[in-house]
Amino acid sequence: MYQGNTLAQALRAASVGREEATFAVDQDSQQSISYGALWNEAERIASALVALGVQPQDRVAVQIEKSVTAIALYLGTVLCGAIHLPLNTAYTSAEVSYFLTDASPRVFVGDPAKLAALTPVAQAAGVQTVLSLDAQGAGSLSDAAAKAAPIAQAVARGSDDLAAFLYTSGTTGRSKGAMLTHGNLTSNAEALRDLWQFTAQDVLIHALPIFHTHGLFVALNVTLLAGGSVALHRGFNPEKILANFATATTMMGVPTFYTRLLGLPGLTPEAARHMRLFISGSAPMLTDTHAQWKAATGQQILERYGMTETCMNTSNPYLGARKAGTVGLPLPGVEVRVVDGNGNICAQGEVGGIEVRGPNLFKGYWNMPEKTAEDMRPEGWFATGDLGQMDEDGYFTIVGRSKDLIIAGGYNIYPKEIEVLIDAVQGVVESAAFGVPHPDFGESVAVAVVRAEGSELTAEQILAQISPELARFKHPHHIRFVTALPRNTMGKVQKNELRREFSATA
Ligand code: AMP
Repeated sequence: MYQGNTLAQALRAASVGREEATFAVDQDSQQSISYGALWNEAERIASALVALGVQPQDRVAVQIEKSVTAIALYLGTVLCGAIHLPLNTAYTSAEVSYFLTDASPRVFVGDPAKLAALTPVAQAAGVQTVLSLDAQGAGSLSDAAAKAAPIAQAVARGSDDLAAFLYTSGTTGRSKGAMLTHGNLTSNAEALRDLWQFTAQDVLIHALPIFHTHGLFVALNVTLLAGGSVALHRGFNPEKILANFATATTMMGVPTFYTRLLGLPGLTPEAARHMRLFISGSAPMLTDTHAQWKAATGQQILERYGMTETCMNTSNPYLGARKAGTVGLPLPGVEVRVVDGNGNICAQGEVGGIEVRGPNLFKGYWNMPEKTAEDMRPEGWFATGDLGQMDEDGYFTIVGRSKDLIIAGGYNIYPKEIEVLIDAVQGVVESAAFGVPHPDFGESVAVAVVRAEGSELTAEQILAQISPELARFKHPHHIRFVTALPRNTMGKVQKNELRREFSATA
């Protein structure tokens, strides 16, 4: 089915002839939707979009709540050859204005509650049609789809044609639109399905947002390719998720999912017995969390690493050794290397910039050829901006983003080498090291530390414990206690925010 449309054909293949099979169960309404109903809705949406004048390569931008209809909209956009452009639901009108002006979509679908503010924004950006879709799947988009006949044929799109724009979280500078192709998304999801052994029997706990690569492409594309189903949670409610372990088989989460679940007394090997695989990514997981999860459930979390521009790059193996603190081995078909400042390959164990090559690599940043050229290396390598190292077995470890590297007196300090030592101090829950201006050294190390409840640990005690293990120039000059580290929706610690807060109060 959907011959000639690379991504749609791949995503549909496992459900052909299994129209009655469940694709999703909405965990709020307990409503179940079959594969047949999902694709029928997608085909109607595709046809409604075509009737609105949507042409191949047109962008269809959405800022909507998570729902099965929102998923059908993604698939319908792919079916009609257009480009899916999902926006974070937390973005303000001013932010949405930037994205719509930058990407010039033909259609914008928004939450009805926000459309009074967003319609003029979309019109000012040249959007021709504004539609609505609420969290229950109702709105003018669904009305138009209900009246439309399913699209007769998927619009042909090859591997190299664009399927999606995902804007990077953009902690510095302007957020960039990563252009992802049918080939990128298909090849990556196929590699992950095979590696993690996803089948039609799998039920994936899906509590991630669907505007980010993790919840959208890793979670949904892998499930669709396997013909499995998703237990759809709108948000992350630890008790509800734990209860879902009884009937689900897998979960994809960010580290905060796991730390929050670890706070529940009901998390036992028995409670997790039905689950075959716990996956984590999007932000580093503490080795402590890995150990605590193993102790509580008897199962070892599988950590993987990827980014908006490259989809997934590495993963710990399903069957082989899962090494806590590492992000595992390159995915089949993907090459990963560590290079120094001159582009030479680093020796094993040496820290350098991580570069990636393979069918997973995006086509470039929309409207930013100079930025694309900056990050693309000769012979097809992409500089991820992450710093890391490779061990003797070929497993990679991420030590931080290159822009978070601290340079004190000309010496490099990797935040992670400070953080692992501080995290190991009794009474510390977690920490984040970052560089702050220093009059002599250029930068010095500051650390934000979260203490365990009731702990009266002092900065002096921390320093006394970690100093013997660190060269003098790496010793933190400032240790501040905070109640929580600032994180974005994907659980990434916002070091910019820490630096900003520090300079505001220094
Ligand atoms: P995004 O483009 O929002 O998906 O962010 C990608 C970035 O998240 C990567 O470049 C890494 O810095 C970080 N990241 C993703 N997965 C991991 C992981 N397992 N461990 C450490 N950092 C990660």
